Amino acid sequence: MTKRFKLLLLLGTCCFGWAESPKPLNPQIQAIVSQISSDHIAETQQKLETFQTRNIFSATDDPVHGVGAAREWIAAQFKSYNPKLEVSFDKHRLAKQGRAFSNVEIWNVVAVLKGTSQPQEQVLVSGHYDTINLTYKQNEKGQRELDGPGTAAAIAPGVTDDGSGTAAVLELARVLSQYQFRKTIVFIAFAAEEYGLFGSGLYAQDAAARHDHIEALFNNDIIGSNVTGNGETSNRYVNVFSEDPNDSPSRQVARYMKSAAERYQPGFEINLVFRHDRFGRGGDHSPFAALGFAAIRVTTPMENFSNQHTATDTFANTAPKYTALVTKATAAGIAELASAPHAPQIKTPPPTEGRAFASPLTRGSGYDAVMSWQNDSPEADLAGYAVVMRKTTSPTWEREIFVGNVNRFTLENVNIDEVVLGVKAVDKDGNESLVTAFTTPPYQQRKIETY
Ligand SMILES: [Zn+2]
Repeated sequence: MTKRFKLLLLLGTCCFGWAESPKPLNPQIQAIVSQISSDHIAETQQKLETFQTRNIFSATDDPVHGVGAAREWIAAQFKSYNPKLEVSFDKHRLAKQGRAFSNVEIWNVVAVLKGTSQPQEQVLVSGHYDTINLTYKQNEKGQRELDGPGTAAAIAPGVTDDGSGTAAVLELARVLSQYQFRKTIVFIAFAAEEYGLFGSGLYAQDAAARHDHIEALFNNDIIGSNVTGNGETSNRYVNVFSEDPNDSPSRQVARYMKSAAERYQPGFEINLVFRHDRFGRGGDHSPFAALGFAAIRVTTPMENFSNQHTATDTFANTAPKYTALVTKATAAGIAELASAPHAPQIKTPPPTEGRAFASPLTRGSGYDAVMSWQNDSPEADLAGYAVVMRKTTSPTWEREIFVGNVNRFTLENVNIDEVVLGVKAVDKDGNESLVTAFTTPPYQQRKIETY
């Protein structure tokens, strides 16, 4: 094992250049990260608090309070940043179900920054603007149950949950809309998260029906607090959740964000959590992941549960400077991904006679890693591909080799059973795509005939 890695390290440094050297930084992404402002995020959070509640059942006809005023204000903010942003309400008629105690119209607020050369490819970034202050009553049987109208009427400032994510989405739209990207970036403030991920679920269902080409969703939910209820505090890292298996498309997005964020904002760690979300809790990335889109959740490790879903989730109990650090990390991830070529494809041919399956990754003559991949529509500015490798137990890619503009590459004397291999596309400016990994399909038990 060690010998093989040494060999590869040699290969990487002697023959293929930039494998071990620090990657150059894209000045546009550096500028974007530096322009994310904690003052602006704080202003947005303070404004969101003034609506008193953004509960989906709150007032829609009051000019200054309730969900109606809040969504109009969010849309107006998007519009004020740049006329290039196409702003709309994504409206749905949600039927009574689950926590939703009666029919209600819900509006996601969407701002689209059209991509220049590959507008059909989309990078999504989201938070949810709706809030809840859970209010309970006793039912006839003397059991505690959610009081629907009481909850709808209660003050629910939701400055951290998820005014912080909403402020991040607005700040990202403000800064990124001053630039151009290859791919389309969609900024979304979801509705009805608190009642069961309804706004995101309906958006994701429509996106799947439209066959939207969503490369990734970066969902920011609860990125506002930096002190826990038991007195721990940290401004040094954020948790990024991604679903299993270990080389799922969502997991590649999480690794991608870590790589981009830590290069553009050194000292602020992306703590990868290999789990779809926190125990027993959900978020707006989940419907996307369930429908086959790559989606991650960005969330603070420093939660204060006594403020969550109560009247004390206020500006006084949030930390805009921490939210700005997280927003900068997200900015690096989405700006790099929206600038990068699309990922190559790895296609496993259908089963053929005499073999279980023909693999795009083989041992070649016996002891090598022979990889092949496809690219149905290579970009004009594509420089080529980089092959990446890690131990199966390593969280992030450990080795990288630029292999040129080829669709097949052999790493000699690499035992494919010991490592995970992947491939990504790189353009002439050094922007890198998501990694497509070589994976093994799960073993399928077939019916065994006996006599
Ligand atoms: Zn939330």
